[in-house]
Amino acid sequence: MQKEKIVIIGSGPAGLTAALYTARASLNPVVITGPQFGGQVSLTHEIENYPGYPGGSGSDLVETMKQQAEKFGARFDVDVVLSVDLSHGSPFTIRTGNSEYSTEALILTSGASPRTLNVPGEAEYTGHGISYCGTCDGFFFRGKNIVVVGGGDSAVKDAIFLTKFANRVDIVHRRDSLRAEATLQRRARENPKIHFIWNTVVEEVGGEKKVQSVTLRNVVTGEITHYPTDGVFVFIGHEPNNAIIVNQLRMDEHGYVITDRQMGTSVEGVFAAGEIQDPLWKQVATSVGQGCAAALAAESWLAAREKQVVPEGVKSAGA
Ligand code: NAP
Repeated sequence: MQKEKIVIIGSGPAGLTAALYTARASLNPVVITGPQFGGQVSLTHEIENYPGYPGGSGSDLVETMKQQAEKFGARFDVDVVLSVDLSHGSPFTIRTGNSEYSTEALILTSGASPRTLNVPGEAEYTGHGISYCGTCDGFFFRGKNIVVVGGGDSAVKDAIFLTKFANRVDIVHRRDSLRAEATLQRRARENPKIHFIWNTVVEEVGGEKKVQSVTLRNVVTGEITHYPTDGVFVFIGHEPNNAIIVNQLRMDEHGYVITDRQMGTSVEGVFAAGEIQDPLWKQVATSVGQGCAAALAAESWLAAREKQVVPEGVKSAGA
């Protein structure tokens, strides 16, 4: 069992910022990266709204954040957390594929994962024409016609990106107006390759060995259409990655960890930052801020605790 002062679970902007701050506080943090180093942002082709970073890929941004944290002593364990035991209070036990940690404080930044459509054909064709990441899979759709599902920033941003490869991109959205920010909306409307299918949901994905069509339902008229397509990109929001802490930390009805102003959770010594606890903002900038706050709070908590702990072998005055 490896004993640590602080372990950070997750390596997105929140986790990497927490790593930088706790490393600079000489806490020698360990970051357990999770399955995708850098989290969702590492799959983003271009970041334009993180101050001081006027343009560049998400993967470059998180790599730079990692190097900055490493410079001050942060350690990275490229592994997946299998279980966390918070039941006895601090120190907490964390088991990964290859190690077991005992840590005094824990910062949880396990993020969120893309929501699925849950329609027939989706599971079958994932990786064979269905994707949740434009940056990862856009290249395979050169000259093809594709459908993008969703009306938020992710859907519209990736639809624009996908026009670099695809012939035609149809954005299928369940309402008649987009949720995405105004700049993205304008760019999408001005892009001649992008078309909109409003008030419509995907009911089924069909094909033979690969995606060849989607069954669409107009939610206003009820009309069903079998629409030919070569691919489906799904961007309909995210679910928090909370499997390891279910029934251990207080969560809201959507499974987001509830935190206080110090990023503290329902268990003393456990802090959370980024999309695991943020159903609302979900920006690189907000995750960075939350990661910073969690690190500062954890540092204060550890310092306060140390003052109270009587060192081994030292008896209190009355003993
Ligand atoms: P989102 O904002 O939650 O949008 C999800 C979209 O999917 C909404 O348009 C929603 O429709 C639709 N949707 C949800 N469930 C659906 C279902 N079952 N079937 C069909 N459609 C469904 O998610 P997101 O676009 O992934 O963005 C998440 C967060 O990251 C947001 O805060 C966003 O601002 C941020 N983000 C920012 C950028 C950026 O460059 N600024 C890029 C990506 C993400 P309704 O609109 O009807 O609810």
